[in-house]
Amino acid sequence: MPLPEVLARIEAAARRAGRDPASVRLVAVTKGRDLAEIERKVLRYGDFPLGENRIQEARAKIAAWPEREWHFIGPLQRNKVRYLRPFRLVHSVDSLRLAEALAARAKREGYRPRILLEVNVAREPQKHGFDPDEVDAAVQAVRQLEPLELRGLMTMAPLAEDPEEVRWVFRELARMARHLGLPELSMGMSGDFEVAVEEGATLVRVGRALFEG
Ligand SMILES: *Cc1c(COP(=O)(O)O)cnc(C)c1O
Repeated sequence: MPLPEVLARIEAAARRAGRDPASVRLVAVTKGRDLAEIERKVLRYGDFPLGENRIQEARAKIAAWPEREWHFIGPLQRNKVRYLRPFRLVHSVDSLRLAEALAARAKREGYRPRILLEVNVAREPQKHGFDPDEVDAAVQAVRQLEPLELRGLMTMAPLAEDPEEVRWVFRELARMARHLGLPELSMGMSGDFEVAVEEGATLVRVGRALFEG
């Protein structure tokens, strides 16, 4: 689906929920796509943030386009935190040990990483993220970790044929973020971004819908 159609759907979903469409940003997930495709399917429509989930691949693309706004959305080992500096936002901090490693590195380098904590709302065994019961304590701990700037929460909903089946996941993440006073909610992918926007997403991470079909 062409990017303007994704934007139109985001806007319609926001209006249905009585939200300002300008409060939702599209993060174009560019993993596995080359620069020419990204120009053709994303950047010709505007300067959208670009989401990558593998450090090696992201590093090559960032080297080509250092001026773009890059977001990291994938799982990360602690020994890779040194590569996170070019990313404007890290969506996928999924353990306290990773947050600590990033804080230590950033302190040495003198910068302030902006992060989200990933929550495994549906408690899927194969998924990354904090258990919902751990989130309050994790947020408290991360708030003590200078120089991290904790901006919000992120989740990946279970795969579902009907996105209505996962509405509760988005609603639950939004409830947690509200309760914790966190402004950013990264939720919604190609199959479920409209429901996520209705439930309060401020960042939707869309890949396939932009590049396929
Ligand atoms: C790949 C990916 C997306 C995008 O998924 P699509 O189904 O391609 O829209 C979003 N978030 C994360 C963390 C991803 O890895």
